[in-house]
Amino acid sequence: MIVKAFAPSQLTLGLQALVRRLLPSHPQFPSLQQELKNKEAGDFAEQYVLHELEKLPQLSDCYIFHNVILPTIFPMQIDILVVTASGIIILEIKNIRGTVHFKEDPRQLIRTSDTGQVQAFTHPEIQLEQYIQAMQHFLSEHNIVTPIYGAIVFPFNNVEIHREGRGLPILMGRELPMFVHKVIAKNRGIATNDITNIILSQLQHRKPFPLCRYYQLEVSALQKGVYCENCHHFGMEKMKRTWLCRRCQHQCMDAHVQALKDYYMLVGDTITNRECRAFLKIECKHVTKRLLKNTLRTNSNAGKLTKYNLSGLFETPLYRGQSPQNARKSPLNVTESPLNE
Ligand SMILES: [Zn+2]
Repeated sequence: MIVKAFAPSQLTLGLQALVRRLLPSHPQFPSLQQELKNKEAGDFAEQYVLHELEKLPQLSDCYIFHNVILPTIFPMQIDILVVTASGIIILEIKNIRGTVHFKEDPRQLIRTSDTGQVQAFTHPEIQLEQYIQAMQHFLSEHNIVTPIYGAIVFPFNNVEIHREGRGLPILMGRELPMFVHKVIAKNRGIATNDITNIILSQLQHRKPFPLCRYYQLEVSALQKGVYCENCHHFGMEKMKRTWLCRRCQHQCMDAHVQALKDYYMLVGDTITNRECRAFLKIECKHVTKRLLKNTLRTNSNAGKLTKYNLSGLFETPLYRGQSPQNARKSPLNVTESPLNE
């Protein structure tokens, strides 16, 4: 059962907005575009593995999480975590093409791409060991002792892997069901509900925003305006009820929402009327005020100084399904009623 479903990483969403708004002639454009491709490939692989795990009948009684960050002694961002009656499985998912060498001394992951380009990465085993240690410490603080299993997973056959020495398992996608099966077969009667509730109650989110600060970019380098999804240009015009692209005649009622999300991810988490007019290219301040009030349901009357909080645009339910009502029905909803076995 998936308790924390797949969602693209915040950095992927922010990079998509950034690459869309940055002119290709900008000196940082190629590296940011490459970073976005890597992030999208990583997200795709994580989503694929989650989907495969969901299909395994052995996991029907287990709890599966995507992207887990907990308050621990070491920084943590676990790709996939599975709580089973035999213990916890932590999966580090890699989607790297080409040839990779897991080097021993010092531990490094060296990738040679199909074009011969050589690149060094953090050895995934170092990350995984750190996550296992952090998880052990986190659970011991909640008086839980449980085995923790870790594996590095390359879901696709687009990579040739060379390894020096031995260490934590490195699995190809096809090997994952057997690995999971072997762990689950050890059934130690561990209280999976307790562990799952603790994890759910402590989940954290990491926010790299605003990305202009993160990548040290001038806000002036961004293209302004409202994006037309149909012809991929900025410059939709605000009409009375809708947004209109004069280039392709496409109309959209809520095209401004993505522009405000872009502002949040790239520039800042609040926006004034003046800033909104400049970023969305709207002339009339009254139209802008109405738009902001209706979109953000803010009722501040500080006039020119009103700062509208944009963070509400990103409220996403934690549970699959997923109205708060559905979440309330979930036996694992710790915010409403902690479950005790
Ligand atoms: Zn258009």
